Amino acid sequence: MSGDSCYAGVMPFLRVAGHQRLLSLLSGAIARETLPPSLLLAGPRGIGKRRVAGEIAATLNCAQPGPAGVLPMDACGACPSCRRIARGVHPDVIVVEPGESGAIKIEQVRDVIERANYRPFEGRRRAVIVDDADTLVPQAQNALLKTLEEPPSASVFLLVSSMPDAMLATVRSRCRPLRFGELTPAEVAEVLIRDHEYDEPDARAAAAEAGGSVGRALEVRGVDIGEAREAAQRLLGQAARVSDPTRRLEAARELVGKTSGKARERDYLAVRLRALSSLLRDLGLLAAGARSPSLANADLQTELTRLSDSFDRDRITHAFAVVDRALAALERNAGPKVVADWLALEL
Ligand SMILES: [Zn+2]
Repeated sequence: MSGDSCYAGVMPFLRVAGHQRLLSLLSGAIARETLPPSLLLAGPRGIGKRRVAGEIAATLNCAQPGPAGVLPMDACGACPSCRRIARGVHPDVIVVEPGESGAIKIEQVRDVIERANYRPFEGRRRAVIVDDADTLVPQAQNALLKTLEEPPSASVFLLVSSMPDAMLATVRSRCRPLRFGELTPAEVAEVLIRDHEYDEPDARAAAAEAGGSVGRALEVRGVDIGEAREAAQRLLGQAARVSDPTRRLEAARELVGKTSGKARERDYLAVRLRALSSLLRDLGLLAAGARSPSLANADLQTELTRLSDSFDRDRITHAFAVVDRALAALERNAGPKVVADWLALEL
């Protein structure tokens, strides 16, 4: 049972990056006291779903909630309740998450159902946050059904999942779904700078290829993102200028880099491939003739414009598909060198 585990980083809705539509929806529902008692926060990994769940709990229990910016209701972030929730020690905010087995067991769920039946100790609403809810074992999901359908009046259940389709349809249908989308590169960069001590250039480079996910940007931390992007850029330059297979294979070798161990090589190549796909996406915007395109790699606009002479729309579409297949092959454990060679010849 991890009900007392640390829930770090709660802060007012106003400071959550992105998801503006969902946040004003939630904030409005809390202000009108119409928040559904069972919610499913679904969407890609690493975009702030769990943070928003914590924020719901904070706003429901804040001693001095009030309007903030465009939001009708927000937590203050400073009262004893907000601070205890941020520290993960509020008795009425229960977090359930997978243990070492990687699954949420039925005992954890039984425990939480029992606790949810008591009146809140000090807050107004008890919040049960089930993180990675798709890891609930089937018996645990079945045990939750009745509670999700008719939760104790003073409790809300907040299920968080990046793979909601892996859950039983009966569980999903008892929760109001909230679909979270990817963050924009600017939003990812903002979070990296504010919460993770990135400086601006690193944050921008990392955000450009993070696929809208702060989590993914942090996963590849330690890999030199700027250098990965340069390698991807050089490969595109080579592909634009030369068709000599030998030269292209040299560029492929550079793309894999010099690292030790297959797993590490695979990670490195995946980061470079994502950089490549981010550059291609920008080339696509330029090829579409957008007058002021919002490029993820805005700092490379001059270089990209030069490259775009050699990459028309068809070639970009093809290259995009090639990178996609290469990433899929890596996920299936294909050898990094083989993948890079194939890619360099196909671009
Ligand atoms: Zn507060």
